[in-house]
Amino acid sequence: LSTDSDVAKREAESMSRKSLRGNAEKFEFQAEVSRLMDIIINSLYSNKDIFLRELISNASDALDKIRFLSLTDKEILGEGDNTKLEILIKLDKEKKVLSIRDRGIGMTKEDLIKNLGTIAKSGTSAFVEKMQTGGDLNLIGQFGVGFYSVYLVADYVEVISKHNDDKQYIWESKADGLFAVTEDTENEPLGRGTEIRLHLREEAGEYLQEDKLKDLVKRYSEFINFPIYLWASKE
Ligand code: ADP
Ligand code: MG
Repeated sequence: LSTDSDVAKREAESMSRKSLRGNAEKFEFQAEVSRLMDIIINSLYSNKDIFLRELISNASDALDKIRFLSLTDKEILGEGDNTKLEILIKLDKEKKVLSIRDRGIGMTKEDLIKNLGTIAKSGTSAFVEKMQTGGDLNLIGQFGVGFYSVYLVADYVEVISKHNDDKQYIWESKADGLFAVTEDTENEPLGRGTEIRLHLREEAGEYLQEDKLKDLVKRYSEFINFPIYLWASKE
């Protein structure tokens, strides 16, 4: 039996980690995806802010999907907090973790493996090619690979997700060619949806500033049809 304080402790440990869980099932990224991640993690591109636009856009897409399904199946939304179609952004200044959570459709284990690593979209190689000939990284979203922009600011990323049809899973990667997926027995149950935890790079300290984040959220939320809340820890 685990108590609330056990969960809190495990979650705190989980927030401080920087490497893949030893017991996790490991996967190799599809080759073009791996190349793309390499380009992003080594990029000197200065407009790193765009990662937040991509994450907010993915959260909004996920919320659109569950809202659409709920038009014909009211039960699908569940009850309590699960019915709140919202985006929550949380900043842990001490642990240097920025998380973006949505109560959207979520991803099953299979979704996580396919959508975040093993299946390359047509845009993947097109974008890699563009980047090799001096293209603008800002266009990443148009090539259908916006998620990977998280590695502009993070060196370790966890994606925790719960879809109605599956258990809660953790996807994690340091963008070194491998990712891992494990059933989540550590974190608070999400109910439904996805939480992206960015373990920020040393150089990405500006995103630990509340004012900077507030400005960005304001900028990128303009055309988003769901409420976005920002929480920041006190130092
Ligand atoms: P795009 O949004 O153009 O499809 P991305 O690289 O941004 O490309 O995301 C890849 C895929 O990962 C999405 O198509 C979606 O299936 C999945 N995904 C990413 N973020 C989320 C999320 N917050 N909730 C559910 N699925 C997500
Ligand atoms: Mg996207």
